[in-house]
Amino acid sequence: MVLDDLGSSLRGTLDKLQGKTTLSEDDVEEIVKEIQRSLLSADVDVDLVMELSDSIRERALREEPPAGTTARDHVLKIVYEEMVGLVGESTDLPLKEQTIVLAGLQGSGKTTSAAKMAWWFSKKGLRPAVVQTDTFRPGAYEQAREMAERAEVDFYGDPDNDDPVDIARKGLAETEDADVHIVDTAGRHALEEELIEELEEIEDAVDPDRNLLVLDAAIGQGAKEQAERFDDAVGIDGVVITKLDGTAKGGGALAAVDQTDSSIAFLGTGEEVGDIERFEASGFISRLLG
Ligand code: GDP
Repeated sequence: MVLDDLGSSLRGTLDKLQGKTTLSEDDVEEIVKEIQRSLLSADVDVDLVMELSDSIRERALREEPPAGTTARDHVLKIVYEEMVGLVGESTDLPLKEQTIVLAGLQGSGKTTSAAKMAWWFSKKGLRPAVVQTDTFRPGAYEQAREMAERAEVDFYGDPDNDDPVDIARKGLAETEDADVHIVDTAGRHALEEELIEELEEIEDAVDPDRNLLVLDAAIGQGAKEQAERFDDAVGIDGVVITKLDGTAKGGGALAAVDQTDSSIAFLGTGEEVGDIERFEASGFISRLLG
């Protein structure tokens, strides 16, 4: 990690260590405080911020900088390593045949993410299909169909069928020429038993390789409970954070990653099918600290 990737106040604090070979407790505390300020304002869960702070404090004071390394570079390395530990590695997504189910609340960005992910897999040379099972939200079918068209991927949905499990089953059969199936599911405005039951039934019907939880970057404290419920129901293997083109930095989603012991797969950065990035730790860390 280079200093330019850090927020300006943290960079300033680290720059004050220029020329020093050892760190005092006050130096470390100042750095930890800067990091805490950035992470808390990026919605990172307070317990996660405290755990990270303890690890940085402990390592920065205990570990000697290797010969020839300045105190500043040494602490920067520790901060970066601990931040990588916090945000995690990218969810493993092999470029081969697979079925992915997207779960999440209404408005989190599932339908948009389904088309974006399909677009992403198609750019990797695979043949994806989007299966739209959201019979709950009016307009979901039309939106999904149009986006799949823009992404130039196979699509199945049926606006005349109100049974999402039946649609899911038929969708897989009707798009059997595709190798990556992305199954979009219905959300609700809040966590409800009906939503969880429907998701469990779809999961049973399609037997996915991965269940990804889609979260709006603006999610705050709600992330943990949502993640817990979805994880208990179907098992969450990764998280998609949407709307990172807005002001929210997505730190709230880290509580979901922690809760499900999973990782982040994709980041959504706009409303168009191409507005998707594979999660990558260093860019995300810069955004959190920036
Ligand atoms: P769903 O109810 O979970 O299927 O959510 P949608 O996919 O319909 O997304 C809800 C709204 O958020 C729509 O207006 C999308 O265009 C918008 N949206 C989704 N992802 C992004 C994103 O990454 N950036 C922006 N700016 N808007 C997004």
